[in-house]
Amino acid sequence: MADSTSATSPLARRGLMFILSSPSGAGKTTISRMLLAADGEIKLSVSVTTRPPRPGEIDGVHYHFVSDERFDAMVAEDDFYEWAPVFGYRYGTPKGHIRNALKDGQDFLFDIDWQGTQQLYQKDQQDVVRVFILPPSIKELRRRLESRAQDSDDVIDSRMERARGEISHWDAYDYVVINDDVDACFAKVAKILHAERMKRQRQTGLIPFVRELMS
Ligand code: 5GP
Repeated sequence: MADSTSATSPLARRGLMFILSSPSGAGKTTISRMLLAADGEIKLSVSVTTRPPRPGEIDGVHYHFVSDERFDAMVAEDDFYEWAPVFGYRYGTPKGHIRNALKDGQDFLFDIDWQGTQQLYQKDQQDVVRVFILPPSIKELRRRLESRAQDSDDVIDSRMERARGEISHWDAYDYVVINDDVDACFAKVAKILHAERMKRQRQTGLIPFVRELMS
């Protein structure tokens, strides 16, 4: 029997674009890291930004850090799936090799905000899966923001204000997960990813497989 029609080998499937968004402090970065560590079939889409690197951030790993001029040139050359201004800097998702890799079954994880999600969804509805992570309460969100940095009260207030703005976009997502326990939240997100991979339309190997079953 040919490999493509063997029930013991994985069927060919189309990759998906898995978007995780949340207000900052809701745990999106932790969940993303857990997903990337646990699942060998998904990799992070590295965004391009005009923001300068923070201590410890590596060019090409956390972001592709570029100048304003370079970003302008990439916009002019239509190099982005989407881009958006956030906190005074610009961020964009480079098309790069994503399109071809999706055909080969590679999944991509996107850590982008609601604006980017909207644009990506408009460009490619069939491949996009949108997941929004909510904090269990506003009090807990504030506690998480306060505990993670030496930011002043003013900075924390402005982050809280922005978080409320982000939360208002919850209904533009396919799935919403409340992060009151990081392991439970991760388990739910992983289940969503696994179920989405099984969608009939994504399992491109089904047609030859079923043809073989019926012959
Ligand atoms: P940070 O500067 O803290 O790494 O990210 C700030 C915000 O920019 C986060 O909300 C993050 O989700 C968003 N962001 C990161 N990359 C992209 C991107 O490629 N496109 C869009 N639209 N937002 C992004």
